[in-house]
Amino acid sequence: MVAVSSWGRLGSWEHQVLALSDRNQIDKQLLQNRLGIAYGMGRSYGDVCLNPEGMLWNTRGLDRFISFDQNTGRLLCEAGVLLRDIQKLSIPRGWILPVTPGTQFVTVGGAIANDVHGKNHHVSGSFGDHVQRIKLARTDGSIIECGPEVLPEWFFATVGGIGLTGVIVEAEIQLCRVAGPWLNAETVPFTDLEEFFRLADESEANWEHTVSWIDCISDSGRGIFMRANPIDAGSRSEPKPRNLTMPFVPPFSLVNRFSLRPFNMAYFNRNKARQGSEIVHYEPFFYPLDNLLEWNRMYGPRGFFQYQSVVPREVGSDAVQQMLTEIAHSGEGSFLAVLKTFGNRQSVGMMSFPRPGVTLALDFPNRGERTRKLFERLDAILREAGGRIYLAKDARMPKDLFEAGYPRLEEFLRYRDPGISSSLSRRLIGN
Ligand SMILES: Cc1cc2nc3c(=O)[nH]c(=O)nc-3n(C[C@H](O)[C@H](O)[C@H](O)COP(=O)(O)OP(=O)(O)OC[C@H]3O[C@@H](n4cnc5c(N)ncnc54)[C@H](O)[C@@H]3O)c2cc1C
Repeated sequence: MVAVSSWGRLGSWEHQVLALSDRNQIDKQLLQNRLGIAYGMGRSYGDVCLNPEGMLWNTRGLDRFISFDQNTGRLLCEAGVLLRDIQKLSIPRGWILPVTPGTQFVTVGGAIANDVHGKNHHVSGSFGDHVQRIKLARTDGSIIECGPEVLPEWFFATVGGIGLTGVIVEAEIQLCRVAGPWLNAETVPFTDLEEFFRLADESEANWEHTVSWIDCISDSGRGIFMRANPIDAGSRSEPKPRNLTMPFVPPFSLVNRFSLRPFNMAYFNRNKARQGSEIVHYEPFFYPLDNLLEWNRMYGPRGFFQYQSVVPREVGSDAVQQMLTEIAHSGEGSFLAVLKTFGNRQSVGMMSFPRPGVTLALDFPNRGERTRKLFERLDAILREAGGRIYLAKDARMPKDLFEAGYPRLEEFLRYRDPGISSSLSRRLIGN
């Protein structure tokens, strides 16, 4: 047994870990080792990739590129390949991942199973929109090959299917043309939510990537809006990798009411002073948090939660304002607070998180009952607004909110593999 946790470090639980590395043996391995769940990089914050006292199928050994067509940008790879390794291979050859989340230390299987989104949802949708085919191993020893046009119902259940339909063994992804690793990025400070929505609306037509940081201490909704487009900036020297690591787990959370206010003030003022355009490399723009490895240790031994929700656009302004007011009054929250609009497009996955609207994501140090009470108040706002919580980030949402937020649950459950179970599936689905 091995102690395993997820990114939120809310605990560490014993698991029996089975390493998957030979893609031709997985059907047999699953048949002999049922009642597990796939585990990629464990970059999900809550319990979607955990199965305490049970089996984890670790997919990191499935790390091979199978083929790459430089003329068409079609990539076939095993499911444990990291998004970082795809970018390193493809960008110098003129192709880039069409969708990438805020960290590149994520596996292809994990990106499909959570149907991850990036800063360009309004242009490119989510990860599953660009997957052409997957090979799925089931615990009865069968293999299903599916895609948007071949056995599409299996594909749409597996994209965003949080690992519950089978283990993705390999995937074919359509990459996107790119001139190089550079972006033309612009930083615009805003003082309230009204200004944020105006910037978001005006940017969607002309900017491929948009995201903003929001100051959760000030309930006005001030923040920093960032937008960027890929550009051909010729050859420039790339930033040196910094390889900094948070070296230890402090005895208490370094993110607390004493550090939060000065940090947010300094961050807002520094970026306000830097407003304007600059040419930036894709890594610091897409993955700013990857600069400090193991930054999740900062929250101390009790770990942290992320609360990421999406609400429909029509009620977005009111709902986000109410949430920010609750958070500011509670004195909880952290400097990792992200606000972003999703484009007007439906996700392909039955259980995908993205939907048209606005998404707010905030990290909260785990302060026990206090934090849970705040979440109950945020849940009430979300219920009223008809929103949903992101399963990749969740460790505690109540069942009724899950069922209301994911209306295709019944349909999805027809494709569930009965030999797969996770902590999240038991908590929210019952088995
Ligand atoms: C700093 C940071 C920033 C982030 N930013 C974003 C963001 O901008 N947008 C976003 O959408 N997400 C974001 N995330 C969340 C992250 O992208 C997702 O949780 C992602 O799914 C993690 O991938 P993983 O390989 O670590 O998978 P894990 O966390 O290990 O697993 C995630 C799920 O995928 C399943 N799974 C993994 N491999 C397979 C497989 N081969 N077959 C079937 N199921 C499998 C697991 O069972 C589990 O249900 C962020 C996370 C961090 C830490």
